[in-house]
Amino acid sequence: MKEITRQVPAAAGLGSGLAKVPESTEVDLDLRLESVVEGVYVSGTVRVDVAAECARCLEPVAWEQTADIEELFVYPPQDAHGHVTAEVDDEDDDAPPSIEGDLIDLEATVRDAVVLTLPIAPTCREDCSGLCTMCGARLDDDPGHSHETTDPRWAALGALLDEEKDD
Ligand SMILES: [Zn+2]
Ligand SMILES: [Zn+2]
Repeated sequence: MKEITRQVPAAAGLGSGLAKVPESTEVDLDLRLESVVEGVYVSGTVRVDVAAECARCLEPVAWEQTADIEELFVYPPQDAHGHVTAEVDDEDDDAPPSIEGDLIDLEATVRDAVVLTLPIAPTCREDCSGLCTMCGARLDDDPGHSHETTDPRWAALGALLDEEKDD
């Protein structure tokens, strides 16, 4: 068993929807690598900086996100002499990831773990009021915000009153 910590730059396109991990920002990995019969079992945590937009008012929101990692990386099939006997099929999503030579590629594992923890609709605060549907103003910045409007159903009545006045 080995414990490792690593700081690596975030890969491009990490995140989902309105919440993203900016490319090249620091990703902290705090991992345990355990040798098991089938390969190496990797567990631990990943920490990233998330930059998002509030789904209601579009204000930028940023926070630190941690996600748990648990993944078994298997040895590729080998013959009795230790020669790899079959190419690993990367297209098969159900197959466990494999160890390539002496390397474990954590990118897909980190990506999956981080994306799973990100909110689909991040908000700047729990009770964000969002934007005015009339003018797009941010309602939390202007609590008394309203517009003088006439309900279209009353418009005809208003016209009648105007006619009466003219008479
Ligand atoms: Zn908001
Ligand atoms: Zn408005």
